[in-house]
Amino acid sequence: MGPKATVTKRGAVLLGKYVACDGFSEARPLRVVTHAHSDHLSGLRTSLKRSESVIMTPATRDLINVIENPFSPVGENVRTLEYEEPFEYEADDITLHYSDHILGAAQVLVEDEEGTRILFTGDFRIPYTPIIQTDVLVIEATYGNPYRVRPFQSEVKNVLVSLVEEAVKQGPVYLFGYHGKIQEVMQILHEAKVDVPFIMPRKIFRISEICEKYGMSLGRRLLLSSSEEAQSMMRHDDSFLGFYHMASRRHVNDDVFRIYVSGWEFSGPCRMINNNAFRVALSSHSDFYGLLQYVEMSRPSMVITDNHRGGDAVVLAKEIRKRLKIPAEPLPR
Ligand SMILES: [Zn+2]
Repeated sequence: MGPKATVTKRGAVLLGKYVACDGFSEARPLRVVTHAHSDHLSGLRTSLKRSESVIMTPATRDLINVIENPFSPVGENVRTLEYEEPFEYEADDITLHYSDHILGAAQVLVEDEEGTRILFTGDFRIPYTPIIQTDVLVIEATYGNPYRVRPFQSEVKNVLVSLVEEAVKQGPVYLFGYHGKIQEVMQILHEAKVDVPFIMPRKIFRISEICEKYGMSLGRRLLLSSSEEAQSMMRHDDSFLGFYHMASRRHVNDDVFRIYVSGWEFSGPCRMINNNAFRVALSSHSDFYGLLQYVEMSRPSMVITDNHRGGDAVVLAKEIRKRLKIPAEPLPR
């Protein structure tokens, strides 16, 4: 009998006999997409052609439609599953569980015919991700190093709101982040009643519409950056918030006030980069202690740390062995 879980060289996380998560595998009839971030979509076109079913939440399907535009995963083999909706394949039960990461994100649980519970967390953040009891656990390792800790996490939202509120009195503020995170920031600012227009390019606008369709509340003043109204506000340096993807940060004029929203910040909730640029440590991943907490409470008899998607899988596996006395190895090697 082979191992019940592994990670292939191309990043497919194999669970049980039938499931490949976040990568294509010739040997597995089912492909599961945990969420719409690009490092979890590799081989998706092949899966859409060749897998028997491609499984994801409805929100993830909608997000991929926009993010990967014009490519749309609406092939006959796409099968959407709600959280905790049962799906049986041969003798295996497959369920998606909620993950607090971006809209639509899921953990993938396979229970095989021997009753072994095999799970891939995908990307997640403690404390709002439910911790699932497992026998074999495959866990993300983005912040898998003991230095990657954010003890100040509870202050980050307030710091972000204060920074934006102060800055937007003087004029426009540009915020940069990744898909999903950008909309989380909009929601935080909307809930804090930051009452200026939110301006954004089309792709971010469409992702925001999807987030609202699935229940997020982003406010009523979302404007396309190409619209007449937004263009006029930008010309006059009015007070507004501009929302852009991290990748377009070099295309936005250097002398505007900017805030980068990124988990890669451990010195404090907010760091000044220069007079008009700040980094705010809002993360959608667990820090090192969050990862350890998941493992400890999930009580697996073995752990695989995802060594395909960057982060610190080797160190995390070592720390799990040392601190929790649970066998753990990074894969692929
Ligand atoms: Zn992600």
